[in-house]
Amino acid sequence: MTPFAFQRARDPDAALQMATASGAKYLGGGTNLVDLMRETLERPDVLVDVTGLSDVIEARSDGSLLIGAAVRNTAVAENQIVRSHFPVLTRAILAGASPQIRNMATVGGNMLQRTRCAYFYDNDGSRCNKRTPGQGCDAVDGFNRYHAILGASENCIATHPSDMCVALALLDARVHLMSRAGSRILPFSDLHRLPGDNPDRDTSLEPGELITAVELPALSLAGNSSYRKVRDRSSYAFALVSVAAALSVTDGLITDVRLALGGVAHKPWRAHKAEAALRGKPATEAFFREAADLELADAIPQTGNGFKIELASRTIAAVLTSLAETAK
Ligand code: SF4
Repeated sequence: MTPFAFQRARDPDAALQMATASGAKYLGGGTNLVDLMRETLERPDVLVDVTGLSDVIEARSDGSLLIGAAVRNTAVAENQIVRSHFPVLTRAILAGASPQIRNMATVGGNMLQRTRCAYFYDNDGSRCNKRTPGQGCDAVDGFNRYHAILGASENCIATHPSDMCVALALLDARVHLMSRAGSRILPFSDLHRLPGDNPDRDTSLEPGELITAVELPALSLAGNSSYRKVRDRSSYAFALVSVAAALSVTDGLITDVRLALGGVAHKPWRAHKAEAALRGKPATEAFFREAADLELADAIPQTGNGFKIELASRTIAAVLTSLAETAK
């Protein structure tokens, strides 16, 4: 690990000031960043510890929930309002990593974790455009079972690793940001990027910009929501495919539906085509499969993950069928 300085920020203004130092980087729970530093994939000169910033979950009068960026993943999953009003978020967080890691990981850090593509981490032996732009991508002709089937580019086929972020995409979360230029609120769907020609850039954040909170808008639909993760082993594994969904049904017809996928793209994938196809339709497995296949019609499998298309379609249908049974 390369030597670095360590500073602890007590408030956002102090963090922004500390981050003006050359080579500075914000540190949350460190559950991914420290690994990256050990592998010398990240070599910050200064680590600015932001775990002293807001660790409060605030229920607001309009029914929305404001979750401070320093709140630990476990605290979010166990929060009673999250459990009752946004159960998809609790389920998604509990599907990720291990209890020890969830106890350490912060909401802000979870959003900014990097892909687990093995070639990205193989600093000495593999070509990777995300690590070294222009170098090439060894995953394209390599072991790509975990890689993308939607939204990839010839430069990068990596997937986003977070479970929590799939739920946040479903919930149309809003990311609260601060920089020395001021504050702004970013739709969650605009936080992460598809790889395009610049896979080295994971997010749309500006240099030095700080995540201070994530906001969950009030959403009655979310009361009937769920998350299912399909993986190679039952715990401590990243998703082959995951599905977050919320559904409301009246007289057997779908009145509203939301759907987001994980493990299939460089960012959490909101399935807008499937959602549009389902509204007003009967809440039956046949229609769920039809909508899933419509969403996946643009999927382009890699050499080792063609199974993901059928797996995603079946998982979407299974989750929605289950939600249809509990919908009012
Ligand atoms: Fe690097 Fe992306 Fe290729 Fe993986 S898929 S080796 S992260 S460029």
